[in-house]
This record gives sequence, C-alpha cells and structure tokens, in this order.
Amino acid sequence: VWNNCLAFIQDNIQPQAFKTWFEPIKPIKLSDNALSIQVPSKFFYEWLEEHYVKLLKVALTKELGDTAKLVYIIKMENTYGNREPFTEKIPSSNRGNMTAQEMDVPIKSKNPELKNPFVIPGIRNIKIESQLNPNYNFDNFLEGDSNRLARSAGMAVANKPGGTSFNPLLVFGGVGLGKTHLAHAIGVEIKDKYPERTVLYISAEKFTQQYIESVKKNTRNDFIHFYQLIDVLIIDDVQFFSGKSGTQDVFFHIFNHLHQNGKQVILTSDKAPVDMQDIEQRLLSRFKWGLSAELQNPDYETRISILKNKLYRDGVEMPDDIVEYVAKHIKTNIRELEGAIISLIAQSSFNKKEVTLELAQQVVEKFVKNTKREVSIDYIQKVVSDYFEMDVATLQSKTRKRHIVQARQLAMFFAKKFTKASLASIGSQIGKRDHATVLHACKTVDNLAETDKQFRKYIEDLTKKFS
Ligand code: ADP
Ligand code: MG
Repeated sequence: VWNNCLAFIQDNIQPQAFKTWFEPIKPIKLSDNALSIQVPSKFFYEWLEEHYVKLLKVALTKELGDTAKLVYIIKMENTYGNREPFTEKIPSSNRGNMTAQEMDVPIKSKNPELKNPFVIPGIRNIKIESQLNPNYNFDNFLEGDSNRLARSAGMAVANKPGGTSFNPLLVFGGVGLGKTHLAHAIGVEIKDKYPERTVLYISAEKFTQQYIESVKKNTRNDFIHFYQLIDVLIIDDVQFFSGKSGTQDVFFHIFNHLHQNGKQVILTSDKAPVDMQDIEQRLLSRFKWGLSAELQNPDYETRISILKNKLYRDGVEMPDDIVEYVAKHIKTNIRELEGAIISLIAQSSFNKKEVTLELAQQVVEKFVKNTKREVSIDYIQKVVSDYFEMDVATLQSKTRKRHIVQARQLAMFFAKKFTKASLASIGSQIGKRDHATVLHACKTVDNLAETDKQFRKYIEDLTKKFS
C-alpha cells in the first residue's frame, strides 16, 4: 500500500522534496484501514502535516478508500551519541500517548482541516527511551574510599534490579561528586544486562514539569500510569521536590506501586534524608526503606586517579608533577577537578605552550578564584535587603523594628560566614556598629536557627544565594 502511495506522491512533487520528506518514512503496519508510518522526528511530522497532508490524503484514499487513516509514529531523537535509541512500543490498550522526552507528544494537527477522517484521534503510541547517557558508566566511574559504598551498592542494584534490599537506593552528596554519573551508570549497566527492562532516567525537575503539565491537560492519570509501567526508575536530584506537595504526592503513589511490584527505584539528592526539608514525612520514611549511600569528597589518591583516567581517555599526556599539582589544589569536587584539567589542556594547545608547572599554577589559581568568587559585604547587604523587600539604607538604619533588626543580623551573620572580614570591619560596614553587636547578631541568628522554623528557611534561602 505504502509503495503505491509513494509512487503516486513521487509523480506529484519535486524529486528533491520526495527524497527529503518521503524516502525516510518507514511503513510500519496496516490495520483497520489505518496505515502506521514512522517518521524520524516530531519536526518531520509537523512538516508533513503542514505541507503534504492533502497529497498524503489523496494518495491514501486512493488505496484504502474514504475511511483511510494515517498514524504517525515519531521516532525519538537520540540525545546522546549515535547509539540506537532504546525505543519501545507499548500496546495502545495501555493508554497514554506519552514519551519520556515529552509527555503527551501530541499527534494533533494545527491544521483544522485535518480532523476527519484523516487524522488520528485516539491513536496512542508510547515509546520509552531510557534517557541514559552511555558516557556515564561504571568503567569510568573510578572507585575510591569516598565513593566505595555508593558504587558497590549501585553495582549490586544493577546486578539484581528490584531484587536487593537496596530499594530504593538513594545516593546523596554535594555538588559535582558524581551523583548523576553514578545514577546513569546503574541504568546503563541494567540496560546492558537486562535489555528487555524498561529503564528511565529523569531529573526531578523534569518529572515535576511533566506532572504540572499533566494536571493542566487533565492527564494526571496517564502520567501516573506511564510511570507505573517502568521497571527501573531513576530520579536525579529529588531535593527538587521539596515544598512541592502535588509532585510529592504523585511520586508517592508511583513509588508505592513500583515498590510493591518489585520494581527498582534509584534516587539521588544533595542531602541525606534526615536533612531534607519540606519533604513529607511519609516520603522520607519510604526513602529510608532501602539504602542511603553517601558520595563524599574524593581524597587525594582518588583525585589523582580520576585525573589520570581522564587524560588517558582523552589521549593527552601530562607530566606527573602537574597532575599532582592540580589534584593537590582542587579538592572541593570532581567537576571542578575535571574543569581545571580541561582548561589546562585547552590553554596549552591553544597557545601552543608546553604544559609547565607555571601554567598549571596560573590555571588552578584562576580556577579556584573563579569558583570561590568571594562575596562582598555590600553584596550581602544588597541580597538580604532584596530578599526582605527593603532597601539597604533601611537595613542599616537605627530602627528597632523586629523584621529590620532580623534582616540586619542576618546580613552580619552572612558577612561573618562568607567573607574574611573581621567583626569590627563587618560592624562598621553594616550601619556603623561595633564588633560586639556583630558577635551578638551571629549568636542570635544561631539561636533562632535552632528554634524558629521560618527563620531557618530564611537562612537556607539566603545561603543558596551566596554559595
Ligand atoms: P553531581 O551529579 O553529584 O553534581 P556529576 O555526576 O555531574 O556530579 O559529576 C561531575 C563530574 O565528575 C562528571 O563529569 C563526572 O563524570 C565526574 N565524576 C564524578 N565522580 C567520578 C568518579 N568516581 N570517577 C570519574 N569521574 C567522576
Ligand atoms: Mg547531578
């Protein structure tokens, strides 16, 4: 049927257009007078709808009669590398026309003319693409004391997804310590060992967006249903759920369903469950059912081996003393460590300079400076004033109004915490106070932080703005 259509179409359009828009189409199946064709992308589909719909319609009606229908199956583009994307079709009885990339990829047309009988109401196709990045795997996730527990728990889960007591597996740790890498590695390993299982990696942020979208479109049930079909669900950065009760609620249901059915859940977070705020108790208690494993700051040895491995994989040679220099001076996290070595490589090849220790020193110095950009007391006052919706003059004024005093004390507290300035100098810059006042402010803030939940929230919000 499709070949006949093609022949007809070919006779009616320019050869180049035919080549571009019709040759890439794959006929998939024909049933009930509905022909399914696979197109390479959503854009492609839209283009066809926009430009060739009449032609398609005529061609198809000629073959199948007036009740002909056309079903587009959009092949999702692969975000990572050239590997074949993992796509999966789920029978339409499962309802829900969502994909991992985009919920509810609408097979709807902008063109009103398209409605009947030609397009496609109620046709639902699902493709779940894992969204895994094959470049993040166990082979290049180097082991060290700082990550041994998390790494081996991840391995265990990958060997027997859903079949260990590590369910959920929660990996937590600070920025740039490898949470995302490890999460992908587990998924990649599972896909490798169990190709038939449906694995999905998604950031908590994206999950939240999808959820919100589904509420808007009245497809919340489809959303839930979609997630309940997954065998291995990986959600990155679940601290993003904090304060979002709707998302937490829906995740709670999905989690329970998956867990009861022996499906594996893997979560990452920048905090340990005990330190998570604004996450419902019932969720936190679920998190604790499995294992929480921490990724800690890598020690010197691990930093060295990560650097060497990176250089080796990039085919770059670098003298040991330079690698050691970088590893010694960049301690905070692995992302920065990699960043420094990359910029070192770039600098040396760009300026055609040998990588000398001197160059390494320059790069590292810049790097450390850039990443730890010191916040100034002025900046702190500005941010705190903005946060409380007042101006800096008010913050500095002599008033005893409670909320202004609190803002001022917070500014002093942060100045102490984030600058190297002395108490006296902080005092003089924040409305000409003496060092005792600053000291008192810092103590007051510490006390309030312990006793006052609202106040703790202020500190948390503001801290984020300074780090
Ligand atoms: P996080 O998600 O915790 O912020 P990432 O997973 O994004 O951190 O890691 C930051 C960078 O460090 C990535 O490029 C990652 O590949 C690299 N990395 C982290 N841990 C390791 C490790 N153990 N071995 C090799 N590279 C690592
Ligand atoms: Mg991450």
